[in-house]
Amino acid sequence: MKKVGFIGLGVMGYPMAGHLAKAGFEVCVYNRTTEKAQQWAAEFDGSFALTPKEASLDADIVFACVGNDNDVRQVALGEDGIFAGLKADAIFVDHTTASAELARELNKIALAQNKHFIDAPVSGGQAGAENGQLTVMCGGEQHIFALVQPVMAAFAKFSQLMGEAGYGQIAKMANQICIAGVVQGLSEAFNFAERAGLDADKLVATISKGAAGSWQMENRYKTMFAGEYDFGFAVDWMRKDLAIAFAEAQKNGSELPMTKMVDGFYQQIQENGGSRWDTSSLISLLKQN
Ligand code: NAP
Repeated sequence: MKKVGFIGLGVMGYPMAGHLAKAGFEVCVYNRTTEKAQQWAAEFDGSFALTPKEASLDADIVFACVGNDNDVRQVALGEDGIFAGLKADAIFVDHTTASAELARELNKIALAQNKHFIDAPVSGGQAGAENGQLTVMCGGEQHIFALVQPVMAAFAKFSQLMGEAGYGQIAKMANQICIAGVVQGLSEAFNFAERAGLDADKLVATISKGAAGSWQMENRYKTMFAGEYDFGFAVDWMRKDLAIAFAEAQKNGSELPMTKMVDGFYQQIQENGGSRWDTSSLISLLKQN
């Protein structure tokens, strides 16, 4: 497990691939916009390729972190795709937040070619990627996960096999459902507190120590009170992730009433021009009333 490929050098992929290079892996990257791949190869000890196939040739593991299901299909399949370059027994690890259905489909394709697949969406955001502190939720076979886990440790503080192919994505859906509810709860509490004249710092210093405490509370309260929303995961991405969760919920029969309501609020934020604001911008709808 020495040679790796990395496909997709966005906000997340660029630093993740950088951590792999710094950890001593021989990294070959691919990015659709070649300038970013050139920039990466100038900054880190590694090379770049002009197609996903070329970045996958000879690699023991190929990681990808692109946008959505269609983007993964575009980099994985076809004559220039990852599978076309991947050697037998090599592993494709997809860090994109995508559907469980896609994970199962890619797993089938991999197995039919004597290759392996792990779906591995991450949480921890841009800061987690830059600091090498991501959490990774994986789906796939135990013995393949055991090979991949020490390599992912270059950019992850924790990774866990959740079950067979698709279960990494399902865990990520549960993660996003939690975030939607937590952030709406914080928005309502902070807006209520502000209107009642409470001091934000004193309030959070106190209630964050009790049962209401959360990562979102401690890391986002200052900017939420200040009405600043440029500090993390964008509303557009969140709506993509929630749409994936709604589709899965329809299959497993679960109700997501609160998540549906919050998704409607995110839609309003998009209509207000806040597509690139972070998810804590839910409070903006309450502040405007
Ligand atoms: P991003 O900054 O927009 O980067 C997306 C990357 O994917 C870029 O390298 C882009 O290439 C590439 N790409 C997109 N569509 C492609 C296609 N059809 N063919 C080839 N390459 C394509 O996104 P990101 O923030 O890194 O997020 C990546 C994934 O991680 C998403 O699934 C997101 O939901 C998930 N995620 C993000 C965060 C976060 O805080 N940002 C947190 C957790 C999970 P170009 O440079 O050519 O556009």
